[in-house]
Amino acid sequence: MDTDMRHAEEVLRALFMQIIESHVQKGLSRKGITELLTELIELAENIVKQVHESTSGSNIACKAGCSLCCHSRIRLTPVEALWIFSWIETNFSSDELKRLHNRIQSNIYLTHGKNLANRVKIKNRTPCIFLDHNKCMIYPVRPMICRSWHSFDLASCQKAFQTGNPDAEINASASNNFVFFLARDTLGRVCNSFGMECEAVEMPKAILHTLECHDPFDIWLKGETMFSSNKPLSSPDSVPENIPKVIISFMELHAPAFFRRFSLSYFMDGSCIEYFLYSQEKKVEISKELILSHDNFSHALNVSKFYPEIFREPLSKYMSAICFSLMIHHAAGIWGLKSDTFISLETRSNVFETFYSRLLDFDFTIKYRRQSDNYSLRGIYHLPSIKIDTSMITPVAIV
Ligand code: SF4
Repeated sequence: MDTDMRHAEEVLRALFMQIIESHVQKGLSRKGITELLTELIELAENIVKQVHESTSGSNIACKAGCSLCCHSRIRLTPVEALWIFSWIETNFSSDELKRLHNRIQSNIYLTHGKNLANRVKIKNRTPCIFLDHNKCMIYPVRPMICRSWHSFDLASCQKAFQTGNPDAEINASASNNFVFFLARDTLGRVCNSFGMECEAVEMPKAILHTLECHDPFDIWLKGETMFSSNKPLSSPDSVPENIPKVIISFMELHAPAFFRRFSLSYFMDGSCIEYFLYSQEKKVEISKELILSHDNFSHALNVSKFYPEIFREPLSKYMSAICFSLMIHHAAGIWGLKSDTFISLETRSNVFETFYSRLLDFDFTIKYRRQSDNYSLRGIYHLPSIKIDTSMITPVAIV
């Protein structure tokens, strides 16, 4: 870094620090955090504006309605996530909140475990969770990383988007990057010195944590770990080594959403259990046939019928997967099934390809093919090392 840049950094850090310290001295609170970020960002934006006015500001290519860069992976600091959470609470309607939940779940599911190169391949399906009809739903409180991108050349953005090259060169404003990086970094250092989480995290997960937490501000201000841990909010303290993370995160991400939208009850008749699925919103039963049976002789679990009729619902595949997993774990608990018990079922080939083969926790494989495109499948029930909560599945009330 040359001397001029070092000097610019010192000056900017001092300016940002002044604002941060004045708020910290008043004592940080939910309101204080919002005011601090508003002021800090206002200052950073003013500095950037002045730089642009004195240099090449008129060449900025970014325009309302262009959202190419809103298909990138967005990371933000916990304090920014809290600021956004506060905005969502005040400004989002219940419909917008529902849509946001769906986008978050879809985004996390699609990007889980993927490296950057593989994420870029599916960027069309994973726009930012706040992008709605090419508009940012949280524009006044958007993260600093979004503010730090200003392109001077639309063609280079379009080329990068179309080719999907994560290393594509984009002619962008270095001053925006520099100023917002310093603002974010200075704020992070102060948060860190007070023992509060400051590591940047991916936005969908960070926002999900705030939404599913009773009082995220309180937790963060107490210095508890909330954002940077993979720990589910309601799970044991540590994730056992032998549980594939994908299973835990899938259940922990989608089960709460499932029970917000549906309820499950069951009726047991000897070695058969029938489940009934209700839509909370429509107040009707939507299951066709959900029947499991237990073979006392071989101790195998047989999925006699599984037609949850969720396919017309948003995120139907994930909801069906959760419904299936909950039924299996619930029945396994009732019948006291041991690990490595076989699960058998019959299905059509296309349903195997698109659904059962993706239920990673049951390892379904084709036992044999039948005529007319039907497969006989064999899966394995693994006793979970952490408790899968099925207490929300209640017996059918007998009238
Ligand atoms: S927060 Fe807004 S500006 Fe940032 S990527 Fe998402 S939609 Fe785009």
